Amino acid sequence: MHSSDLKNLKIAIVGAGYAGAAAAKGLSLLGADVTVYERATEIGEVGAGIGLRPSTMDRFRQWGIFDAIAKVSSPSDYFEILTATGEQIMRDTWPGIEDYAEPTTTHLIHRGDFIDALLGVLPEGMVRLGHTLETVEDRGDRSALTFANGETVEADLVIGADGIKSVVRQQLFSDKDPVFSGEHAYRAVISLDDAQGMVVDDNLRMYIGRGTKVYLLPLRHRDQVSFDITALCPDSTWAPEVTKDDILATVQGFDERIVNIARNLDMDTVNVRAVYDIDPVESWHSDSAVLVGDAAHSMLHHQGQGANSAIIDAGALADALREADSVAEALAAYQANRKPVTDELQRISRQGWTEDEVNEVFPGQKTPASAK
Ligand SMILES: Cc1cc2nc3c(=O)[nH]c(=O)nc-3n(C[C@H](O)[C@H](O)[C@H](O)COP(=O)(O)OP(=O)(O)OC[C@H]3O[C@@H](n4cnc5c(N)ncnc54)[C@H](O)[C@@H]3O)c2cc1C
Repeated sequence: MHSSDLKNLKIAIVGAGYAGAAAAKGLSLLGADVTVYERATEIGEVGAGIGLRPSTMDRFRQWGIFDAIAKVSSPSDYFEILTATGEQIMRDTWPGIEDYAEPTTTHLIHRGDFIDALLGVLPEGMVRLGHTLETVEDRGDRSALTFANGETVEADLVIGADGIKSVVRQQLFSDKDPVFSGEHAYRAVISLDDAQGMVVDDNLRMYIGRGTKVYLLPLRHRDQVSFDITALCPDSTWAPEVTKDDILATVQGFDERIVNIARNLDMDTVNVRAVYDIDPVESWHSDSAVLVGDAAHSMLHHQGQGANSAIIDAGALADALREADSVAEALAAYQANRKPVTDELQRISRQGWTEDEVNEVFPGQKTPASAK
């Protein structure tokens, strides 16, 4: 689209998570008139770490925000998968390091630092907190939003970046509910001093046991490590009640140091949630509304690709708007580019456990994949 048309484009983004913040960055760089509406009254993220892949970091370089992200993260060379007791199963360099003009590694970052850094590079006033979307109406070449506080907004383009329970998705594109994976995730950020000497460099290690995966994701720039457990559990309550004993039961038989880390956890700092994704959504867009991030394609975290996909979506949407002749054409091009990739990521992310493993841990329960 011509830069004059882009400058006149009014864009309303719902949700100020990674997808919404990244879309706001990419689209405001095109010159569009962007406002982000976020239901929370203050920004916060779960205490946990994630890995930002080379493709994500390269997009940040294009947007001129690489340094803002690099400043609060650690470059990492490889990841390792080990048995519960620490025998190496595989070790691989992060894919994609050499794919860009400059070698670009994965960066390990605390989720809170990541959202702060992303929102910190947006122009003042672009994000409006305390706006909970209640209804979205597609009016053809414009879409309209109504918020719980009574405010209404009409825009040339509405972007649903409102996460796994997206109101935009449910009202415009698919009313199917999220799907329970049969797992819980327990996440905490602990001091390196409490890590039993298990953190020796800046590389991600995943230990796999019977029905449980333990991730140690170093955040050495903070003198911390993200200690995350994913364990099979049939309780589908979104925010389940879990005790220290429950967590200890999931790491039974693991390296004694992992058991000790779990034993010493301060349960008040542990984020506990049941793990859900969504089935692929047939269409993500109309002529004036579109989905990005988890709203479009929430996936299980086994491939570590959800937040990364949200950033890549935002970049692809900005590219499509710049290159197409109209918003409608751009939205179709964006979906054609991104959906095959995320459909596949959703599929492989569900390949978490074998039927045998699940039967061994919870006799009679179906594997997450076969339950869908
Ligand atoms: C246990 C676990 C581990 C993970 N590990 C990784 C990993 O290692 N790497 C990785 O890349 N990804 C990982 N992910 C996935 C990643 O967290 C998500 O894909 C990512 O957070 C999606 O970002 P988003 O902006 O699309 O959605 P969200 O982060 O959910 O943000 C949505 C935003 O919309 C707002 N909102 C919602 N409803 C409304 C409304 N009605 N009105 C206004 N605002 C609204 C919310 O408040 C929120 O701010 C993990 C996920 C889990 C559960």
